[in-house]
Amino acid sequence: MHEKYYDVIIIGGGPAGLFAGIVCARNNLKTLILEKQAYPIDKACGEGIMPTGVEHLRELGIAPFVEKYPYHYFKGIRYISGKGRTAEANFAEGSGWGIQRVVFSSALLECAATLSNLEIRAGASAVYTLGENPKVNLNNTVLCPKLLIGADGLHSQVRKLANLEALFPKLKRWGVRQHFNVEPWSVFVEIYWGPGLEAYVTPVSVSSVNVSLLWDAKRYKPEHGGKKLFASLLKEFPELQERINKEDVMDESMAAGPLYQKTWSVANGKILLIGDAAGFFDPITGEGISLAAKQALLLEKIVIPILQKKNENLEKRLAEYSREFTQIYRPYHAMTRLVLLFRLWPKLTDRVIQVLHSFPALFQKLLSVNMR
Ligand SMILES: Cc1cc2nc3c(=O)[nH]c(=O)nc-3n(C[C@H](O)[C@H](O)[C@H](O)COP(=O)(O)OP(=O)(O)OC[C@H]3O[C@@H](n4cnc5c(N)ncnc54)[C@H](O)[C@@H]3O)c2cc1C
Repeated sequence: MHEKYYDVIIIGGGPAGLFAGIVCARNNLKTLILEKQAYPIDKACGEGIMPTGVEHLRELGIAPFVEKYPYHYFKGIRYISGKGRTAEANFAEGSGWGIQRVVFSSALLECAATLSNLEIRAGASAVYTLGENPKVNLNNTVLCPKLLIGADGLHSQVRKLANLEALFPKLKRWGVRQHFNVEPWSVFVEIYWGPGLEAYVTPVSVSSVNVSLLWDAKRYKPEHGGKKLFASLLKEFPELQERINKEDVMDESMAAGPLYQKTWSVANGKILLIGDAAGFFDPITGEGISLAAKQALLLEKIVIPILQKKNENLEKRLAEYSREFTQIYRPYHAMTRLVLLFRLWPKLTDRVIQVLHSFPALFQKLLSVNMR
């Protein structure tokens, strides 16, 4: 039987897995992505890519593929308090992109297809064992890559099996999203602050918006679950409800959570975690995709040069990667924590929005700090 060999095998072909696959393959590493769903893949997401993320998509060579598809730019962030106070700021540099996940998934796949070293197998769950030398069973052939990457999302199995999962965090926030056939009324991502929950609206094409709702299970109990969940949460935002009608609904709502997932490290032996699998805090600062893209660029800078050589110390490089990862993850975590902290007191939320309204330059600075 013809023995296949891959330098890198990636479990999960969402954005993080595809970003990682693209950097490996463009550096001549034979790479295999195993994705359990069929493409294009949908997922609960606010679908806003921050300007730093857009910049990373350019560095990854993905941006020209995205630009062929429908998407909508946004130039900043607008906060709207429960009392109707607003504060807004433009990004200091560049624009963000709002793009539906299925559309983004198609663009990523198109980019990946241009790389001859990258193979993607979709529609089958990966069978693997993780030890000192991770092994993947593919149609009864056992494959032993130099590096196995876990890019299997928020509730990563690779993270669990590689003993990289930290204790279950107490914070239990959830998210749900739905698309509406409504012309975007704003070139901002709008965030509406409600009692224990938030709504945010991202323009995703010239004729549609994404509405995402995030809530803290300890501070807000949704009246309904299942198909009625989205509508029951939306009731908390009458101003927003006025802008979108039931008839404008484009698809079924999709939910995800609990959102906060912790790791104690992102690497173990020949295993590396990337994207949400490497740990995720909260989408309120809109950073998930940008962080995943940044991690892929870090992989390219630090780990890939070693994989291209023989007999080099991979573990040492993965330790270096982990240190650099902390440098990018920590500021995201700190800023998100700050935002969630001021959410604990509704009066403070209102007051903060008032201050940001009076000092838009401060708001802009905070957005820049968030995106580093
Ligand atoms: C409500 C909500 C709103 C958000 N809003 C934003 C936003 O506005 N902007 C932003 O940048 N980020 C946002 N995020 C975060 C963003 O969605 C994630 O950070 C991003 O999807 C991470 O990509 P990923 O590839 O790591 O994970 P995923 O997109 O979850 O991909 C993981 C993939 O792995 C596959 N998989 C899982 N197990 C296996 C297996 N055993 N074998 C093979 N394949 C497997 C899955 O099918 C999936 O395709 C939001 C998240 C939520 C929940």
